[in-house]
Amino acid sequence: MQRRSLLAASGAAVLMSPVSAAPDVPAFRELRKSPRLPVLFLGHGSPMNAIEDNEYRRSWQALGAEFADTGASRYPRPQLILCVSAHWLTRGWWLTGMEKPRTIHDFGGFPQALFDQQYPAPGAPAAAAEIAQSVKAPPLGLDRKEWGLDHGTWSVLKPMFPKADIPVVQLGMDYSRPPAEHFALGRQLRALRERGVLIVGSGNIVHNLRAVRRDAGPSQAYDWAIEFDRVAAAQLQQGQLAALADFQKLGPVAQVAHPTWDHYLPLLHAAGAADDKEPVRFFNASFQAASISMRSVVWG
Ligand code: ZN
Repeated sequence: MQRRSLLAASGAAVLMSPVSAAPDVPAFRELRKSPRLPVLFLGHGSPMNAIEDNEYRRSWQALGAEFADTGASRYPRPQLILCVSAHWLTRGWWLTGMEKPRTIHDFGGFPQALFDQQYPAPGAPAAAAEIAQSVKAPPLGLDRKEWGLDHGTWSVLKPMFPKADIPVVQLGMDYSRPPAEHFALGRQLRALRERGVLIVGSGNIVHNLRAVRRDAGPSQAYDWAIEFDRVAAAQLQQGQLAALADFQKLGPVAQVAHPTWDHYLPLLHAAGAADDKEPVRFFNASFQAASISMRSVVWG
């Protein structure tokens, strides 16, 4: 994919405020009971959305403001963010378990401004261990040094929570396991919503980088992209959440919408953590480069 050209074509302004100092946050000790937090699935698209002043970045900023510590805020402030990123595929299942997860720039061919980005949110090893214990199966390992926060996580969290003062744990997805298992793990994470955990899936409902058309506007997309996005949106709207794991039933449309599943699987984790009858709302229901659905979902 010619990412530089995609950037040039977008014409969007790039924000030049890359480096954040590590916030002074007291070490996270334990998960405490809380009013129920929503569940998010965020379509992240191009990594440049993290720093371009565009509709996607602005939507993440607005969503983050809904969690502010003011009496007028819609949601309580999360104690912890648990992010399932499309960009951490593993053998076995893992949670980041380091005190200070590093910011990972897992991409190539982008401007230096993107590589200069840091998201110094603290980790929460004790909470990660607690989450791992609360899941019966599959076993979740604690990664103490390998990974960190990849751009599936920081590109959306930095606009949402720019102070980086809420601890973040990432979940590594076992790509060898069937989609229904990803949904089932999300179901087991659901109770964490009442213990201060904001569960975020970060991927894309349609994601085919081989078919990217950099000249396409946000309302332009391939027929198969529109079709797959439409079916998923209907299932989400109707609360047929377990059915999302059967996406391969769509046959050729599913194959071209997701030549690989990495960007779809985080949706299954997020949907698993939601209730079938829970109110659902969409935002960013548009396409980036014709083959990436940016549709994002809030439950609760
Ligand atoms: Zn991605």
